[in-house]
Amino acid sequence: MARYTGNVCKLCRREGAKLYLKGTRCDSPKCSISRREYPPGAHTWRRGKPSAYSFQLREKQRVKRYYGVLERQFRKSFAEAERLPGNTGENLLVLLERRLDNIILNLGFAKSRYDARQMVVHGHVQVNGHKVDIPSALLRAGDEVQPRERDKSKKMVKENLEYNESRRVPSWLEVDNNKPVGRVVQYPNREDIGTTDREIDFREQLIVELLSK
Ligand code: SF4
Repeated sequence: MARYTGNVCKLCRREGAKLYLKGTRCDSPKCSISRREYPPGAHTWRRGKPSAYSFQLREKQRVKRYYGVLERQFRKSFAEAERLPGNTGENLLVLLERRLDNIILNLGFAKSRYDARQMVVHGHVQVNGHKVDIPSALLRAGDEVQPRERDKSKKMVKENLEYNESRRVPSWLEVDNNKPVGRVVQYPNREDIGTTDREIDFREQLIVELLSK
């Protein structure tokens, strides 16, 4: 199983769509999808007509890789989404959006999803005044995220906010760049997901069909 690392460019080509895992590189001509759209490998042209199963599997892999989640964690999130009331596919995406590493990225505190994860693991952020170093921690409405009270952490977040100046913060989050502090205003709606600054069109129903078999 592919582990989530900083060197992920070929994952996008394997999934057949941009997953925006490398910060500003994704919008530059260096993006490996912009250079070659077809999947990696010498014999991709020999691949036959895709089956319904392959579409479902691809969608699951796409969502997993977009959020940088491994299979086991993804299955756990799916089981939790099934237990919650409402649409399972939407519940799954909302749970993934509420992860601390995803929120750090969407607030502009990190340059890429990989950086966001590293910042959390290395103890650079705190939630409601307490250090949290688990990237999969789920935040609730009203939670506040800040860099730790250390010069190194504050400097890193401030630099990243400047770097992400043009990035649009989703409506379910708010950020004060001066302090800096971010807040979860409410849980995201389906329309908020995948529309931050680049359109990502997830078809979560395919994942539900695959994992409910
Ligand atoms: Fe790499 Fe980003 Fe392009 Fe994906 S979208 S191939 S992560 S540069």
